[in-house]
Amino acid sequence: MGKKIFKAESKRLMELMINSIYTNKEIFLREILSNASDALDKLHFISLTNEAVRERMGELKIKVSVDKESRTIIVTDNGIGMSAKELEENLGTIAKSGSYQFKTEVQDDEKPDIIGQFGVGFYSAFMISDNVTVTSRKYDSEKAYIWQSSGVDGYTIEESDSDKFGTQIVMHVKEDDEDNKYSDFLESYRIRSLIKKYSDYIRYPIKMDIEKSVNIAEEGKEPEYKTVTETETVNSMVPIWQRSKKEVTDTECAEYYKEKFYDFSDPLAVIRVDAEGVVCYKAMMFIPSRLPGGFYSKGYEKGLQLYSSGVLITDKCEKLLPDYFSFVKGVVDSSDLSLNISREMLQHDKQLAVIEKNIEKKIKSELLKMRDNDKAKYDEFWKLFGASIKIGVCSDFGMNKDFLKDLIMFYSSSEKSLVTLDSYVERMKEGQKYIYYACGSSVEQIDSLPQTELCKDKEYEILYLTEEYDEFIVQTLGKVGEKEFRSITAKDAELHSDEEKEKIEKQQAENQPLLDFIKDSLGDKIVKAIISDKLKSHPVCLSADGEITLEAEKYFAMMPGDDAKPKASKVLELNADSKAFDALKKAYAENNTSKAAEYAEILYNMALLIAGFNIEDPVKYCDLVCGLMN
Ligand code: ADP
Repeated sequence: MGKKIFKAESKRLMELMINSIYTNKEIFLREILSNASDALDKLHFISLTNEAVRERMGELKIKVSVDKESRTIIVTDNGIGMSAKELEENLGTIAKSGSYQFKTEVQDDEKPDIIGQFGVGFYSAFMISDNVTVTSRKYDSEKAYIWQSSGVDGYTIEESDSDKFGTQIVMHVKEDDEDNKYSDFLESYRIRSLIKKYSDYIRYPIKMDIEKSVNIAEEGKEPEYKTVTETETVNSMVPIWQRSKKEVTDTECAEYYKEKFYDFSDPLAVIRVDAEGVVCYKAMMFIPSRLPGGFYSKGYEKGLQLYSSGVLITDKCEKLLPDYFSFVKGVVDSSDLSLNISREMLQHDKQLAVIEKNIEKKIKSELLKMRDNDKAKYDEFWKLFGASIKIGVCSDFGMNKDFLKDLIMFYSSSEKSLVTLDSYVERMKEGQKYIYYACGSSVEQIDSLPQTELCKDKEYEILYLTEEYDEFIVQTLGKVGEKEFRSITAKDAELHSDEEKEKIEKQQAENQPLLDFIKDSLGDKIVKAIISDKLKSHPVCLSADGEITLEAEKYFAMMPGDDAKPKASKVLELNADSKAFDALKKAYAENNTSKAAEYAEILYNMALLIAGFNIEDPVKYCDLVCGLMN
């Protein structure tokens, strides 16, 4: 039989293989072993109904060997084998639909990545070899055939005198060049580690002859070493996530996690999924008990390992995890994902999306379980990864807020611990209209706010929002059930009874001229001065009138850039029952306007300090206070 040429698409794919980037090249072995494993599966299936095959079949296995002298890597399986026609059909063309997809959908600059991620099949052998021979005898055939090719220019198929059932692939490894040290692939340890890395969980034993130095001297005598060859099964065959929950202890899972994901501490939780539905898959996931390296930095890469029936497809499949769960580590293994790029890529995406949705729900439900059954652990989780969940609430225009809101916790004034929003609502007092929160740099700072005192007096619980973006989170959430959020510093915080309101309105009316005077003397610093309904023992506080809250002003002030930053419209609130107010009132009544103006200035600066702002002119403020002391 003469030389035949490859079909056009096959040629293209092969050229792509040959020119692929170096780091991708190592996956050739995964592809060849995966084909061998499929061939063993097929024969196993036939043997179930074919006694003759069953009897002569022996142990189904794959053998891998390397020979430096002849520069070859040989992979042998005793699987189903191929007839001459199948050699022609299978190795002379790449799958039809796939080649079409490949041409139309994949941009040139994406190609190398695709090779790394998805199976590219048999042709990947040409990434490292300049000549490949496939000798194969089909299980029901009298004869073996040999397929041979040195690359793009074509292939030959001839009869072989081999009598072995199954398939043997001999890859002649390319000579080293400037960019590539192909000879690495001729080192047993390298091949062995590639099997471990990519094909550890193939169901059949992958055997290699390993040379070992053993001591053959009798006991007590001088050691005498001899090199012996031992056959070793390199892969562990049954992955931990394929074993049932009952079979695998928590310690085993933790050990696996630590080894696989380079952590030295046990995970906070192990999440296992065994899904049968639109897409079947098994997953074993972990929530770390420490921040993964680089977490919360731009360079951090999320993702789960993706396997297809025990064969590693990609180390980090980012499609499987939403950003807010990017701290999760683990493995997904689905028999429904084809390893081959030639099965439509889009289909892949759909299946991955289904798995992602499932996984996301599962992670959430496990977290809720942790929250309800082991609060201390959940607190630990929250301290590490709460920010990730909170960012998830705000990003994508709040699209995921409903999904995530149950996971959120804030520190509570009454419980003195982190609490969930639902539990807050359950504890709300009769007549309490809003979920109250307060923003500040720390629990202590919020506790020193005048409004906090008033709230506590009413026995209304306050959520302490101590991160800069916390207020955006409650604003994004908007409501929990029917209950709205309200900042305790908001004008309409409604912390009062009707009598209290009446009293304040009266005080407001009585003191209107003084309040107007204060506004005039402070000028643009405030929009108005009012008698406060929030203050109990403190003389003053600030509140904001309008959209921009005091916390928002501070947040904007921290943003980079020299443009004018949005500012809150500040309202100076005064406690009509305080001594300080009395003093101000007295000075004003005595027509001592310069003194009254000084007092107003002092009170305004105090209000700034209490609200966590810097004062505009500290020296002037100190002079004023010292003036009082003299
Ligand atoms: P895929 O495995 O995704 O179909 P490949 O290019 O890797 O694509 O292989 C093409 C076909 O060649 C396989 O579908 C299979 O039928 C056949 N084949 C490859 N390797 C073997 C093998 N070791 N034994 C039997 N058949 C094989």
